[in-house]
Amino acid sequence: MFRKVLIANRGEIALRILRACKTLGIKTVLVFSEADRYSLGVKYADEAFCIGPPQASKSYLNIPNIIAAAEISGADAIHPGYGFLAENADFAEVCESCGIKFIGPSSKVISLMGDKIAARKVMYEAGVPVIPGTFEPVEDEKKAISVAKDFGFPLIIKAAGGGGGRGMRIVKDEDGLKGALMIAKSEAEAAFNNGAVYIEKYIEGARHIEVQILGDGKGNVVHFYERDCSIQRRHQKLIEESPAIGIPKEVKEKLLESAVKGARAINYEGAGTLEFLLDKDNNFYFMEMNTRIQVEHPVTEMVTGHDLVKYQILIASGEEMPVKQEDIVQRGHAIECRINAEDPFNNFLPSIGTLKIFSLPGGPGIRLDTAIYNNIEILPYYDSLIAKLISWGLTREEAISRMRNALEEFLIEGVKTTIPLYLRIMEDKEYIKGNISINFLEERGFLNGERG
Ligand code: ADP
Repeated sequence: MFRKVLIANRGEIALRILRACKTLGIKTVLVFSEADRYSLGVKYADEAFCIGPPQASKSYLNIPNIIAAAEISGADAIHPGYGFLAENADFAEVCESCGIKFIGPSSKVISLMGDKIAARKVMYEAGVPVIPGTFEPVEDEKKAISVAKDFGFPLIIKAAGGGGGRGMRIVKDEDGLKGALMIAKSEAEAAFNNGAVYIEKYIEGARHIEVQILGDGKGNVVHFYERDCSIQRRHQKLIEESPAIGIPKEVKEKLLESAVKGARAINYEGAGTLEFLLDKDNNFYFMEMNTRIQVEHPVTEMVTGHDLVKYQILIASGEEMPVKQEDIVQRGHAIECRINAEDPFNNFLPSIGTLKIFSLPGGPGIRLDTAIYNNIEILPYYDSLIAKLISWGLTREEAISRMRNALEEFLIEGVKTTIPLYLRIMEDKEYIKGNISINFLEERGFLNGERG
């Protein structure tokens, strides 16, 4: 087992990893930027090293400084959390070559799954249904037109190296194809340093359903069931839940089986998520794989009772699969709301300032993953996520009503947050019925101020 783990992240996920290390009796080292000097993580970690100025590119993405901190502190392993360097194959490789264990899959697997075209190919070959589309980069208009002939409109152009909901363009007809292709390619080049794009059928009214898996890199893979992450804005998740309701039993079984099959095909090590789209006729298609712990992992922990971050660490330390598939069961229902410091009624404009906490939510089935405290400065440098509020109930209805109470109890001022939007969603009759899809927020008028 590791003696000391370095956490290369900040905010709530840094605390989440710190807690997992503590439960395993492992010492912790946290790296932080000048902006996070007064963070809770710095207070709770056994050791903390400042690795640079506030800008992420100079601190949380500064590989030499992070490695130096690991070497000086004598850390055996690095946990990257999500975002920043979590899916950076170069970073994983540097760790490997320095003899520091990267808590996650090998750099080879990260780079394979990080190329979405390659990932589609691997999954297709493993017998996992993938979204109809190309298995090669689409270079020019001629190719794009022939793809459109094969699959029909609407289509979606996606960046092979994309992530975070960026680098995607929906095309409704041939007129828009050429321009969209050019823009998508140049955006992909600028944002991801990789101009390769591919084309998929755009699946209208789909649900985003993903499967949490865990592999030990020794051929064993288990799943922790599915999450529904359909409530999105600009292809980015806002609310997630588990289980996904209304999926026929045989479809769900096939979906879970496919995810395990896909993870086995790459001899996966660590926690990972295979993301799928489920169409209106309950056909599912692989979309991409995330080779890290995800923001929404707590809903899975709430319904299964398993500690996924702890398992990540155990597996990275060389243990065999710490849990049997038959010991993983879904019980009840969990929902997560991502509380962002943004104004949901003004185009989700990021909000910064000094946060005043009057009351934090609690009670049965409520979990709050956050690193906020009274008078903390919400800064403009990083992601706007300030808290994850998770509710659990024996039924979906109970999870919704507990979430509603918790959102009402969550009294903070100083910055605008997405809490008022979530309160309205929790009262929306279609949401309550479970009529959700990736177009939900738009269709129900939550994005254009109609409900403001
Ligand atoms: P990222 O890695 O940037 O998050 P994903 O491939 O995971 O990108 O897609 C994010 C979201 O974009 C999906 O959850 C879905 O809402 C939308 N999307 C992606 N591909 C398609 C598609 N072929 N049809 C419909 N929506 C899609």
